[in-house]
Amino acid sequence: MPFVILDTCDRCGECLPECPIEAIEIGDPIYVINDTCCDFEECVAVCPNEAIVDESEVESSTHESITD
Ligand code: SF4
Ligand code: SF4
Repeated sequence: MPFVILDTCDRCGECLPECPIEAIEIGDPIYVINDTCCDFEECVAVCPNEAIVDESEVESSTHESITD
């Protein structure tokens, strides 16, 4: 899942039709990118809130570690 949606998402819906593989789901309170996302970035450009970011950017700011 290379891209994630931040909580600055206001559910405007702009990104939804942009994803060619329908990896974006209408979540509550924010939209969610599922694990079929494979990096086209079409959605990133249309988001008016810059809420869609590379997952690695989020990890570096939250210090979350992934363990099995
Ligand atoms: S990065 Fe690409 S595959 Fe992932 S949600 Fe956005 S448009 Fe869809
Ligand atoms: S375009 Fe951005 S703000 Fe709008 S629904 Fe998608 S992620 Fe949320």
